[in-house]
Amino acid sequence: MTDHSRDRGPRPETLAAHGGNRVLAPYRALIEPVHLSTTFERGGDGGYPGGAVYSRDHNPGFKPAEQLLCALEQGAQALLFGSGMAAACAVFRALPEGARLIAPRVMYWSLRNWLQEQAARSHWTLEFFEPAAAGESADACGTRDLAERLGRPLDLLWLETPSNPTWDITDIRAAARLAHAHGPDVVVAVDNTVPTPVFTRPLTLGADLVMHSATKYLGGHGDLLAGAVVGARDDSFWRRVAAERAMGGAVPGAFEAFLLARGMRTLYLRVRHAAATAHRIADHFDGHERLVAVAYPGLASHPGHAIAATQMDDGFGAMLSLRVRGGAAAARAVAGALTVWRQATSLGSTESLVEHRASIEGPRSPCPDDLLRLSVGLESADDLIDDLEQALSAHAACVS
Ligand SMILES: *Cc1c(COP(=O)(O)O)cnc(C)c1O
Repeated sequence: MTDHSRDRGPRPETLAAHGGNRVLAPYRALIEPVHLSTTFERGGDGGYPGGAVYSRDHNPGFKPAEQLLCALEQGAQALLFGSGMAAACAVFRALPEGARLIAPRVMYWSLRNWLQEQAARSHWTLEFFEPAAAGESADACGTRDLAERLGRPLDLLWLETPSNPTWDITDIRAAARLAHAHGPDVVVAVDNTVPTPVFTRPLTLGADLVMHSATKYLGGHGDLLAGAVVGARDDSFWRRVAAERAMGGAVPGAFEAFLLARGMRTLYLRVRHAAATAHRIADHFDGHERLVAVAYPGLASHPGHAIAATQMDDGFGAMLSLRVRGGAAAARAVAGALTVWRQATSLGSTESLVEHRASIEGPRSPCPDDLLRLSVGLESADDLIDDLEQALSAHAACVS
């Protein structure tokens, strides 16, 4: 067998460990400096010899995280944003007025709400597809319902897989193929926040854009807000997204960009470890007498497991949900009885978080009201399991 590793260049773990830092003159520092200056001096000829103009367009300190993310997602271009929502909104604002969009019915809640509000103001036409349509065979994963909705013109298909908070799986390859067969200019964009490039690289599966809430696993420590978009090509749509960032001012602060590149140095270690713990927790609680269901794409019983196994490498992510027997009140009592898990929104930090999701999403949410969303962190798996066992049995004692 031939070893192609030299042609391929360093592996992603190696690139991540180096944090995207360039070694620059005059000090040859291994970590790139934080550039607090908002503006950069022009040369005698009026040009910009340093390549930087003004920090709302681009701060040189964005480069390490942008270049690293671009390499890990195997894209052509990457841009940091001030938050995940800022990144997603820039993609949608780059569409023409009156554009037609399709998105999954189960997806990140704030973005779904924003899309619906914009649609109500006639900025675009929005339709939802069912990632896990009832009665759909396990090998279809969203594409049957999607195919039925592709009768009319389409500008953008948005995907999120596994999708928040029920972890339904959409077949990225099949969905992108359908959308591009419908129209070569259809933009297929994937929110890759939950799987991260460690597990899924949507651009290699046919997507055109990847969006991240870098607030989550990429930053990884719950102490910065940032977002990112990675593009497969430097085309006219990409340039409109870049113009939306520069004109809308949706950039992160210089220090956040530094923290992000720093957090990404341990991305592979953190995310793989957390996902292995999540898998252990899912296996442990699958079939538990106090639970109605465990939603985790790594379980063979999950309807999207077979597709997840083809588009996720080496793991199924560190997010799962438990549906507690006894409904909303029981689920909230269990969350309240936990002591190792912290009860808070968000995901992707080193501490494990639990959240009764329906109460934050409100009455229009498709989220079942007995569902607890778990973001698994880096604590001992045994402590996390013991804590859940103790909270479930405390709740059993109070209902009996
Ligand atoms: C948090 C999150 C977002 C929004 O990102 P912010 O950084 O909070 O703006 C989008 N998508 C997913 C899947 C998320 O978890």
